[in-house]
Amino acid sequence: MSVLSQPITGETLKNHPAHFAAKAVPITVAYGDGIGPEIMAATLHILKEAGAALELHPIEIGESVYSRGFSSGIEPVAWDTLRATKVFLKAPITTPQGGGFKSLNVTVRKTLGLYANVRPCTSYHPFVETKHPKMDVVIVRENEEDLYAGIEHRQTDDVMQCLKLITRPGTEKIVRYAFEYARRNNRKKVTCFTKDNIMKLTDGLFHKVFDEVSAEYPDITPEHWIVDIGAAKLADSPEAFDVIVMPNLYGDILSDVVAQITGSVGIAGSANIGDQIAMFEAIHGSAPRRAGQNVANPSGLLLGAVMMLVHIGQADVATRVHNAWLRTIEDGIHTYDIYAEGVSKERVGTKEFAQAVVARLGKNPEKLTPVHYKHGAPLQIKVTPQPAAKKDLVGIDVFIHARDIAAADLAKQLQACNLDGLTLNMITNRGVKVWPEGLPETFCVDHWRARFKAKDAKVTNAHVVQLLQKIQAANIDFIKTEHLYNFDNQPGYSLGQGQ
Ligand code: NAD
Repeated sequence: MSVLSQPITGETLKNHPAHFAAKAVPITVAYGDGIGPEIMAATLHILKEAGAALELHPIEIGESVYSRGFSSGIEPVAWDTLRATKVFLKAPITTPQGGGFKSLNVTVRKTLGLYANVRPCTSYHPFVETKHPKMDVVIVRENEEDLYAGIEHRQTDDVMQCLKLITRPGTEKIVRYAFEYARRNNRKKVTCFTKDNIMKLTDGLFHKVFDEVSAEYPDITPEHWIVDIGAAKLADSPEAFDVIVMPNLYGDILSDVVAQITGSVGIAGSANIGDQIAMFEAIHGSAPRRAGQNVANPSGLLLGAVMMLVHIGQADVATRVHNAWLRTIEDGIHTYDIYAEGVSKERVGTKEFAQAVVARLGKNPEKLTPVHYKHGAPLQIKVTPQPAAKKDLVGIDVFIHARDIAAADLAKQLQACNLDGLTLNMITNRGVKVWPEGLPETFCVDHWRARFKAKDAKVTNAHVVQLLQKIQAANIDFIKTEHLYNFDNQPGYSLGQGQ
C-alpha cells in the first residue's frame, strides 16, 4: 500500500492515468477528530493486513480546518482529491458549538450528491448484549432533502420557519436504491416510513412514489407505516423489519435508535452513496472524552470500510475482514463499550482489538453467520422523466406580520384590498382557520396567512402584483407569499383547516 504524503489533486491524477490503471485503488482518507485518528489507524492496519489494494490520499477535515476559518470544516483543495478518487473513508469529526459553523457531513453529502445513506444494523447475540437478539435491519435514509435543505427564516417577532423540501426525483432515487439494494442483498421486504396523514403533499409524495416504484419489484414485499407507530414498532420488535427507506429527518433519528439497540453505536458502519462518489464512515461521532486513551471501538469505521471494499470491487477482502471481525466478537475480545462480565472474555484497547482481528484473518465465525460478499458494480439509479403538468394559478397565500389584532379586524382591512376575481377566502394562524368563523379559544401569534382565491377568472402574476400593491398601500406588513397552483386540475397546496 503506498501512502502519499501530500494529497494529490484532480490535475495530477489526470496527468498520471497509471494511478487508475494500477491495481491499487486510490481513496481519500480523513483521520478526523477525537477518537478518529485512533480508529482510523486501527482500521487501516486491518485493511492492509487483509490485502486491500488501496492507495491512500489523506485530507484534513474537522476542528483544525474550522479553526483556520473554513466554516464547513473542509479546505477547498480537499474537493479536488475527493473528486479525483471518488471514494472517501472518513473518521468522525467534532463539530464546533455555536453559530457560524456548518455541518461538514451535510456539506459533503450535499455537495457531492451522496443521496443514499445506508446503515446496516445487526445484533450479535449472545456476544454483544442486546434486548433484540434477532435484529438485522438496513436503514436507507434519504440524505439531501427534507428539512435538511437548510432554508430557514425568521419571519416575525414570534415565528421561525424551516422549509421541508421533498422532490419527486430525489424520492424516486432513494426508493429505487432501497429496492435495488434489497434485491442485490437478497432481502425480502422494504418498509417505508412517512407522516403522510399530516404532511399530505410532502410525505404524501414520498409514499406515492414508494407505491409506484414498489410495483416494479414483485419479488420484494412493500410495506408502509406512519412514522410514529412505525418507530415504536421498530424499537420494540426490530426483527419484524428488513430494509427501511425514509425521508432524511426520520432516517437520521431512527438509524441512531436502531444502531443503539443492537448493543452499541460503536459497531455500525455507514455508506453515503452518490452517482459518482461515495463516502464510508462509522455512524458515531468523535467521542472527544474517549480520545487519546486507546479505548475506542474501531468496529463502526471498520464495517464502513468493509462496505467501501465491496463498493470498489474488493469483495473478497471485504469478506475476509468482516468474517475475522465477527470471529473476534464471537471470541469475546471486546472494547469497553460492549464489554460485559460473563459474556466477554477479554477487555481490550483499540490497537489490541485491531491486532485480534488481524490474527483471525482467514477464519470464519463459528456461531454467528459468516458473510460472503459478491462483486457487483455500484448501483446506478435512473430516475423516470416526468412530463410537465398543466399548471394554473388559482390564488395566493399572503403571510402577514401583525401584532395585537383580532382576526375579524385584519379580515376587514384585507377585504378592502380584494380585486375583481381574487378575493379573501380565509385567514389562518399557525394553520388554524380563524376567519371566517374562528373560535375565541384559538391561540394566535403575530403571523397570519391570508388566502386569496380566484373566483372564475384566470389569475396571473399581474393580479398578484396588483393585490400586493393594494396590501402595501393599506399599510399591512406582508412578509411572504406562496402561489396556489392547480397541477393537472389537482390542488398543489394544502386546503387548510375547515375547508
Ligand atoms: P458520539 O457518537 O461521539 O459519542 C457518544 C458516546 O458514545 C461517547 O461518549 C462514547 O461513550 C460512545 N461512543 C461513540 N463512539 C464510540 C466508539 N467508537 N467506541 C466506544 N464508545 C463510543 O456523540 P456526541 O458525543 O454527541 O458527539 C461528539 C462529537 O461528534 C460532536 O462534535 C458531534 O457533532 C460529532 N459527530 C460527528 C459525526 C461524524 O463525523 N460523522 C457524527 C455524530 C456526531
